[in-house]
Amino acid sequence: MLTPNAPNQALLRQRARTSRRDLILALTANIVPLLGTVFLLASTLAFGMPVHLFDIVLFAVCYFLAMVGLEVGFHRYFAHKSFKTSKSMEMLLGILGSMSFQGGVILWTATHRRHHGNTDEPSDPHSPVAPAGSSRGRRFAQFMHAYIGWMFNPNSLKPKGWERMTPDMFRRPDLFRLHVSYAKWGILGVLIPALIGAAWYQSWQGFLTGLLWGGLLRIFVANQMYYITN
Ligand SMILES: [Zn+2]
Repeated sequence: MLTPNAPNQALLRQRARTSRRDLILALTANIVPLLGTVFLLASTLAFGMPVHLFDIVLFAVCYFLAMVGLEVGFHRYFAHKSFKTSKSMEMLLGILGSMSFQGGVILWTATHRRHHGNTDEPSDPHSPVAPAGSSRGRRFAQFMHAYIGWMFNPNSLKPKGWERMTPDMFRRPDLFRLHVSYAKWGILGVLIPALIGAAWYQSWQGFLTGLLWGGLLRIFVANQMYYITN
């Protein structure tokens, strides 16, 4: 049981075995939504699968909630401490933010604080700026690093001592539990719209429709918004 202000051994252990788990999660979080989006586009545009108003509304509601979690929660509340709120609202924002598979709330916050502390410098985890005088290829590689590559680079994703950027968070057991269980919330964020789709259409096809529109397409679009910003 973790207690506030106690050294967080679980975090240290998790940091030590960062690479494989984080790499698998980053790959899954990017490839599965991409495949779902391609499947959805192909089945609607190429094979004429009908799109219903319900599908669009489900996507819009799920996207809105995901952005509330990421922008209001992860970004403004956790990373920038822009406002105060209750413990229950804090948890809700943290859970909604976790549903887009952009990483656990503590790592996301640490990454964003490192970004603001070193914007467009070499120690910015997702800087698009290559050193002056770099070749065209080197500049393109740096662009791709800022876009997506940094998530697959342990030195960008989890450099040694990353948790020191979040001393206000990683000693809190409730936030730490949320952080390490974020993938479960991500899976729930795909399953909930799938179940809503199944209930609405009363079929397994409805389950798939909800999973694609409210889950995978929503994750793909939400994540692209962040990648493109970087
Ligand atoms: Zn910011």
